[in-house]
Amino acid sequence: MTPTTRSRLDRPATAGTAPAPIRFIRDIYAEKQASGRPVISVEFFPPKTPKGDETLFDRTLPALQAVSPDFYSVTYGAGGSTRDKTLAVADRIQREHHTTTMAHLTCVSTSKADIERYLQEARDMGIRNILALRGDPPQDGGELARLEGGFEYSYQLVRCIKAMGDFSIGTAGFPESHIACKEGKQVDWQRLKAKIDRGADFVLTQLFFDNDDYFTFRDYLVETLGVRVPITPGVLPILNTQQIERFTEVCGATLPTDLRAKLEAYGDDADAVAEFGIEFATRQCEALLAGGAPGLHLYSLNKAHAATQIIQNLGPRA
Ligand SMILES: Cc1cc2nc3c(=O)[nH]c(=O)nc-3n(C[C@H](O)[C@H](O)[C@H](O)COP(=O)(O)OP(=O)(O)OC[C@H]3O[C@@H](n4cnc5c(N)ncnc54)[C@H](O)[C@@H]3O)c2cc1C
Repeated sequence: MTPTTRSRLDRPATAGTAPAPIRFIRDIYAEKQASGRPVISVEFFPPKTPKGDETLFDRTLPALQAVSPDFYSVTYGAGGSTRDKTLAVADRIQREHHTTTMAHLTCVSTSKADIERYLQEARDMGIRNILALRGDPPQDGGELARLEGGFEYSYQLVRCIKAMGDFSIGTAGFPESHIACKEGKQVDWQRLKAKIDRGADFVLTQLFFDNDDYFTFRDYLVETLGVRVPITPGVLPILNTQQIERFTEVCGATLPTDLRAKLEAYGDDADAVAEFGIEFATRQCEALLAGGAPGLHLYSLNKAHAATQIIQNLGPRA
């Protein structure tokens, strides 16, 4: 991708309507916290085909814009497989919808020079927010590669982005602990604190289904480790039973036995599963907000229906 030379932040207002400014996400949290409102964000992945682009930009985004999320985020293929596409999608959302959009970035199998180039391109496009991640090992069971001068853990990426300046930085947190951490939950959560200490402004969590996992994690970070940045739960509305079984297995999240049994009772009735998924996620979100969560990060899988329905169901609470 050719970097743009002029920041999109400088774009002029058109047809008499001033476009909403693209903001640092830390400022969005601060403003919402001051007014007692939750920050609602929605995550996409970069589509792989022109048809996927069409669905995202012609159907999913217009439907979501109707419920006004505070920001969007766009995932990044570990090792750089979606590098240009992540930036292109984030840039296009910001230009066409004037809504703050965060680009994800992983540091595995990437040189420091490539990371700095990505950040420079992002900055030139007016992307002001980066989710700093390590990335997952390849699915073929291969090892994570660390390039000469590259990074092994995401706290090093956070430090690098902070040193470049001019970004608000998000980081990933794991209420049930990261799947590869064998030293216990609290060790993993202490490592999350290290990312915050290096400059992360907010935490977005991995999906989970038992809210007690989130509250225990949040309370340990806040009360024991003294964390002061927003710790936002990531919520995945269940759309399909086989898919959720696969996702939870890959990321190490628990699919509680009673929830699994309910899903299995729907058998092949895909519509009933999706309807139940929206209802379950709505109740989960209500309880999270009632328990003091600063916002909700909805994993949309590029589909509008579940995320918009949940935001509408929450009504004034969202
Ligand atoms: C909200 C969210 C969005 C995500 N988006 C993407 C995406 O766009 N693309 C993608 O590829 N993946 C994405 N992921 C997945 C993420 O990349 C993986 O879960 C990855 O395995 C861990 O990333 P991390 O940044 O938490 O890694 P780290 O913070 O580096 O932690 C990884 C592991 O290393 C351990 N560790 C950390 N520091 C140390 C240390 N100093 N010494 C020893 N061990 C240590 C941790 O305990 C953990 O087990 C996302 C996850 C979340 C929650």
